[in-house]
Amino acid sequence: MDDLLRLLPAYRPSMDRISLAIHARPEVRFEERYAVSELTRWLAGEGFAVGCPAGGLETAFVARHQGSRPGPTVAVLMEYDALPGLGHGCGHNLIAAGGALAAILAARAQPDHPGTLLAIGTPAEEGGGGKIHMLEAGVFDDVDAALMFHPADRGLVARHALAAAHLGLRFHGRAAHAAKNPQDGRSALAAVQLFLTAVDMMRQFAPTTARLHGIITNGGDAPNVVPALTEAALFVRDTTAEGLADLIARITDAANGAALATGCKADIFETAPQYAGRIHNLTLANRCAGYLGELGVDLEPPSPTNPAGSSDIGNLSQAIPVIHPYLQIAERDTPGHSEQMRDAAGGPEAHDRTALMAVAIARTALDALGDTEFLTAARGEFRDAVGEPARGYQ
Ligand SMILES: [Zn+2]
Ligand SMILES: [Zn+2]
Repeated sequence: MDDLLRLLPAYRPSMDRISLAIHARPEVRFEERYAVSELTRWLAGEGFAVGCPAGGLETAFVARHQGSRPGPTVAVLMEYDALPGLGHGCGHNLIAAGGALAAILAARAQPDHPGTLLAIGTPAEEGGGGKIHMLEAGVFDDVDAALMFHPADRGLVARHALAAAHLGLRFHGRAAHAAKNPQDGRSALAAVQLFLTAVDMMRQFAPTTARLHGIITNGGDAPNVVPALTEAALFVRDTTAEGLADLIARITDAANGAALATGCKADIFETAPQYAGRIHNLTLANRCAGYLGELGVDLEPPSPTNPAGSSDIGNLSQAIPVIHPYLQIAERDTPGHSEQMRDAAGGPEAHDRTALMAVAIARTALDALGDTEFLTAARGEFRDAVGEPARGYQ
């Protein structure tokens, strides 16, 4: 890793600048134009051939560094979307600049590497499913392995994740004067309230692994008008796609029941592709964690008791070997998606650690490109876990 560490001081300032710039200018899903322009300009300046848009998404890109001879294709992934109303409370500014740094360090340390090194920008992780759209569009068809990391309140080699569905609901009622002739109205607000109460009542009777959580995104326009339209957004999560299907059927019944009771109609639809559960590739993840350990940052082994969220990396992990280790950037038990996590993601310690993670990922990417036995072992682990070979060239 000495070659990578020697290069680090030359590239670290750009990583910090771009990370902090993205942090200061948060953009939500599919609107990440500023982040993409900063990242692609940096990668292009360091010799990557940038294709943007990618996979039919305006804020997705593929930056390619072609090696000196045929070989596998290894991708470093970036995320850069922020959370509505919160900014970078998930720390994707670090994934963005740290991922680009990893790719640049690998390409600069070994410009004549075999195969192809990609730096892929994946938008809209927070509920938009950017990676799923890109996977379906064929962006990952020739990719043998994909590497990324995620900031967190603890360091983990890997973490399980929940499958997730993103539901949108619209309740249609009838407007009327709320005092003069309410009897002529049908309140879509009553419908959405009753629906969310039904979801609350359902929770005790859902599997303990399930998570049901939502908000009202449109509760009406004025207190003196019986609301004719209200809207809600709901995430439904459980460990498997089958579990999700059962819960979605019950949620649908609850919405229709609430609508019937209040004289309204309900529309239920999915606002993004479903996120799949995650398959860890421990061959790759342990190699990366080993390098990070050599740099003084230890990661804990996976544990089923770690709290889990969901990510579109899950869908990719069902197609090719991926790593998604967690890097501690905040005090343990700092909640994800919080102001504290957002502030930590803009702090100096988070950037020091991200730089080390970038070195570990760069080293792992070069191993995967140049060490056939290592990549074959990773792809063998994938085949054993999934029951069929991974996409890619081998
Ligand atoms: Zn995130
Ligand atoms: Zn998040």
